[in-house]
Amino acid sequence: MNLALLFNEDFVAPDRVVLRGRRLEHIRSVLGASTGDQLPVGRVNGLMGLGEVIKLTDSEAELVVVLDQQPPPLLPLTLILAMPRPKMFRRILQTSATLGIKDIWLINSYKVEKSFWQTPWLSDQNLRENLTLGLEQAKDTIMPSVHIRKLFKPFVEDELPALLNGKQALVAHPGTAMPCPTHLNTPSALCIGPEGGFTPYEVGKLEEAGCQSVHLGPRILRVETAVPVLVSRLFDACL
Ligand code: SAH
Repeated sequence: MNLALLFNEDFVAPDRVVLRGRRLEHIRSVLGASTGDQLPVGRVNGLMGLGEVIKLTDSEAELVVVLDQQPPPLLPLTLILAMPRPKMFRRILQTSATLGIKDIWLINSYKVEKSFWQTPWLSDQNLRENLTLGLEQAKDTIMPSVHIRKLFKPFVEDELPALLNGKQALVAHPGTAMPCPTHLNTPSALCIGPEGGFTPYEVGKLEEAGCQSVHLGPRILRVETAVPVLVSRLFDACL
């Protein structure tokens, strides 16, 4: 937690917050903070700044906050991801938030196991919690949005063309002819397949909707590795 993300319910006055639970635990045990210390904080979907600890007990931390800095630039990327295996999903969600992705679409695909859609990690509360962890890691405040589409064909035929409008759209697919581009600086969309990959039919449908198939070389990466590798290859955001 490189920044404590503050939610409306944390504010007890316009410049004062009370933190409990995970964030309190982190402030006490990991940061070893004491009264008078200043910690990085940020208001969800708002400004970042510093919070001065004015009270610290076993049950709560009270901070006076000054919020005067913009969060870092976002990544102009719409990520369209075949629903990953639950354990991986949680990490991918956190990583995506850390990398600055603000628009995430979880879609079905032939090789997505039906049971993956039952995971509790898809509940609103768990999505928010994991995206929060990713934002706190990066020192960002802008909460990504997550859209769930459990039917591939209606999504690709009815929604995807409009979603891709004005964007450079790619589908990462091993063994395809074109290498993944670099130095993108315009709004983009990227589709990433499931562990077993998209089927040829699915790649065809994604191409029909406007996606260009690209590859990352002969090594097959796990989805959780493919996400950061693709993002750092496509964008210069890390420079
Ligand atoms: N078993 C599949 C690979 C799936 S890897 C196959 O052999 O085709 C899971 C997803 O990560 C892929 O659908 C793709 O979107 C992405 N990916 C992993 N390695 C890749 C590579 N070398 N090139 C392009 N995409 C890759």
